[in-house]
Amino acid sequence: MLFKEVIGHSKIKTKLIDSFHTGRTAHAQLFLGKQGNGALALALAYAQYLLCEKHDEHDACGLCNSCLKTSKLIHPDLHFSYPTIGPKKISTDFIKEWRVSVLNNPYMSIDQWLEELNAENKQGNITKDECVSIVQRLSYKAIEGRFKIMILWLPEFLGKEGNRLLKLIEEPRPNTIFLLISEQPDKILNTIVSRCQLIKLPKLGDKQMSDFLIKQYNIPVPRAQKISYLANGNYNKGQLLLNEHDNNYSNIFAYWMNVCYEGKPKDMVQWVDGFISGKHPEKDFFIKTGRKDQILFFEYALYFLKELLCMYFLGDKMEARLQKTESSTAKKMVKIIDIDGLNLLVRLFDEASYHIERNGNPRIVFMDISIKVHHILKMKKIAKV
Ligand SMILES: [Zn+2]
Repeated sequence: MLFKEVIGHSKIKTKLIDSFHTGRTAHAQLFLGKQGNGALALALAYAQYLLCEKHDEHDACGLCNSCLKTSKLIHPDLHFSYPTIGPKKISTDFIKEWRVSVLNNPYMSIDQWLEELNAENKQGNITKDECVSIVQRLSYKAIEGRFKIMILWLPEFLGKEGNRLLKLIEEPRPNTIFLLISEQPDKILNTIVSRCQLIKLPKLGDKQMSDFLIKQYNIPVPRAQKISYLANGNYNKGQLLLNEHDNNYSNIFAYWMNVCYEGKPKDMVQWVDGFISGKHPEKDFFIKTGRKDQILFFEYALYFLKELLCMYFLGDKMEARLQKTESSTAKKMVKIIDIDGLNLLVRLFDEASYHIERNGNPRIVFMDISIKVHHILKMKKIAKV
């Protein structure tokens, strides 16, 4: 992976390159970033830069022998450690799956990775045996000269086993570099954090992400912008949204709010059927949804409510972010619901999304929430009358 293939973070890229050229490359660096903001991608690009035979002052060459191996994650001096499943397992047991997953999506989440390992509901873990393996792998000299690099993804999964790595992190062999990538630094042993140079990745901006989406996928500007707003700095989520059916969520959501407001049981049942099966007797914008789509739908709903909340405070200034259908739904809703009602909706959508994620029956969840939304939407009107 090249630096130019990593979204944003230009200041950090420059800093990493500068420190290399001035001989100040720290031997243990902890990249801190929220899920989906590219810490792993950045570490991969950095490793490729360090191992490249012909890098310039901006990026690795992408063509030399070393780059070709690094870009396939098969460079003999580039090692990986990551959460796995099972008490005795080590990372190298899953290196094939790791290569496929990371090459496919260096912005992946831990849930996606564990799904790849068929973890079902099992927790990921970086085991004692894995720590022993890390020490072993780093006890030899680099094979092709230059550096020996260990990328440890999500050290928060080390738990107390992290103590086994302290010495290695503090006094590694010459030219050995440890790159730790964490999403939850508060779950890492302090003794590890204090031995690393910290590199905090800021949240990706909406514009950075939409520009990248346009360049990468050649999609229209408004769609890229909408995905970026919804993804809220998480490029992994952005990609998921991109793969959704160019989501008709705004139409489905607007119609849902309307049906809930009217409160006719037959319409509610038809909406729920349409939303799940993709077939509705009157509306043609429904699409068949699975569990993942339904969770994304709630994320959309929460995004919409956030915008609605901004409308209360900022008035028309916020409208630029909403598209036509959304804007007209928002204007109608502002008239019938107050801040308390909005907060209730946020809580409802959050809870419902949680139930769907944990295998709740979608028909029951959506029917139940439709009735509750009806009551919330009617609340203020009744109070006004
Ligand atoms: Zn190169």
